Amino acid sequence: MNLLVTGGAGYIGSHAVKQLISLGHRVVVIDNLFRGHREAVPSEVPFHQLDLAETGEIIGVLKEYKVETVMHFAALTYVGESVNKPLWYYRNNTAGALSLLEAMEICGVNRFVFSSTAATYGEPDSVPIKETNRQAPINPYGRSKWFVEGILKDLVIANPKFGFVALRYFNVAGASADGIIGEDHEPETHLVPNVLYAAMGKRDKITVFGNDYPTPDGTCIRDYVHVDDLISAHVLAMNSLRDGDAKFYNLGIGHGYSVGEILNTAKSVTGRDIPTEYGERRAGDPAQLYADSTVAQTELGWKPVHTDVNEVIESAWRWHTSHPNGYGSRRQDV
Ligand code: UDP
Repeated sequence: MNLLVTGGAGYIGSHAVKQLISLGHRVVVIDNLFRGHREAVPSEVPFHQLDLAETGEIIGVLKEYKVETVMHFAALTYVGESVNKPLWYYRNNTAGALSLLEAMEICGVNRFVFSSTAATYGEPDSVPIKETNRQAPINPYGRSKWFVEGILKDLVIANPKFGFVALRYFNVAGASADGIIGEDHEPETHLVPNVLYAAMGKRDKITVFGNDYPTPDGTCIRDYVHVDDLISAHVLAMNSLRDGDAKFYNLGIGHGYSVGEILNTAKSVTGRDIPTEYGERRAGDPAQLYADSTVAQTELGWKPVHTDVNEVIESAWRWHTSHPNGYGSRRQDV
């Protein structure tokens, strides 16, 4: 298959590129390198530094590489940042997807695998969350992706040859088994890397955002899915796509861990102390998000391999300790 991977230099996108080329697919990457790393994309993979807003240039890429399917990862992904800069999130995530979809329409590219998010559910009315749960995002990040889901539904009605799958990610963590690529964000806001940075002494401490939630230990509960398992679901979803498909799948392991449990696991995996303080709740954070991913498992045959959060954190720890300055370390290595 000829694929365009947007955001292929980012954390999740780079793991997708790696898995897709190992399966023999032909991949071209676009990424604006705002938060991505050129080093995360293998040198043999064609790379174009482009922003999603550059519709004309994207058309050129779709034509040049005879793209059949687009996997769309490029996005801004921080809940807190989205609360402070909503227009920026709608511009990048919603208008950016629109520009990409327009380019695809012009080129007759009709297969789309979309990175959606559990944040489209907002404060869930029940857990574990099923695809049929009410979607009511409570922050601009979730809403920016939810709007795209709506656009995609409209598109499939207008063009029965179009087929898409929207994959609603829960919390993605971990790194590739060979330790070559991993998570390297600037700024880093995610829990798992920040906990490990605190263990490494790269940060003074970790701040737990709220311990007064209605959960057993008072901290937020999330479902941490390994990045390689997440990408396996993308491959299965891509292979299943047919004309007229409008599919939605939750991608999580189906088990929630509290922030407190993640801290304890990280202490045992690293054998280090993790200085911790308790702070205010972070705006836009629901108390509990964990998936019922039965539909992905039964319809796609998806079976996450790394279902123990220990393994997820171990793989992240291997990456961070071998790349203490992220891709910066790699540049110094070579
Ligand atoms: N969190 C925290 N301290 C941090 C970062 C995150 O307590 O430094 C909490 C956050 O409030 C949420 C969970 O950890 O409940 C996961 O947050 P993360 O930013 O990793 O992912 P998100 O849930 O926003 O996608």
